[in-house]
Amino acid sequence: MKKIIFATGNEGKMKEIRMILADLPVEVISMREAGIDVNIVEDGDTFEENALIKATTIRDLTGELVLADDSGLEVDYMDKAPGVYSARFLGEHTSYTIKNQYIIDKLKDVKGSDRSARFVCVIAAAFPDGQTRTCRGTIEGEIGYKPAGANGFGYDPIFYVPEYGCSTAELPPEVKNKISHRGKALEAMKSVIKETL
Ligand code: IMP
Repeated sequence: MKKIIFATGNEGKMKEIRMILADLPVEVISMREAGIDVNIVEDGDTFEENALIKATTIRDLTGELVLADDSGLEVDYMDKAPGVYSARFLGEHTSYTIKNQYIIDKLKDVKGSDRSARFVCVIAAAFPDGQTRTCRGTIEGEIGYKPAGANGFGYDPIFYVPEYGCSTAELPPEVKNKISHRGKALEAMKSVIKETL
């Protein structure tokens, strides 16, 4: 069976990708399962660059087909910040309670559709023959007026989805996975991988 390494240390992401690729004849393994422990510097300016840095680094080490993702929140009123710096925004060890309140405070005089924001996810594939591909998924929403909900992680409590009338932290995980940036990017990557099997 074909092996795919998913370059993440995040078990939640592993679970999601295994579910989405479950009907393909491939075995998806994590970096840990592949015995890889490297510190990769994600110094790209775009989600695509960062996802490709991760995927190609591990592909070059292993010679296997490697997938990697990069994701973040773009707030239009903040010139698309925090963007690729979402995890490091206000400092890597700063709590999301503080990060989320900071964004809400920044938008205190901003109303309605001017609060637009999106989660972006890019999945990169690095193939053993040297080729690479990227797939992008997004979910559009607005920054809420206060944090709400306990599901998910990161910026979910302040990411309000008008169609559902709640934040992504208030959605059941299986609903969020279906409509999320990551779910959409993974589905698109699934089609790309299918072509190569
Ligand atoms: P990474 O791609 O795992 O490095 O994630 C980057 C950062 O983007 C995370 O640490 C979160 O701050 C944010 N982020 C990405 N996806 C989501 C999401 O689905 N919900 C909330 N925050 C997210």
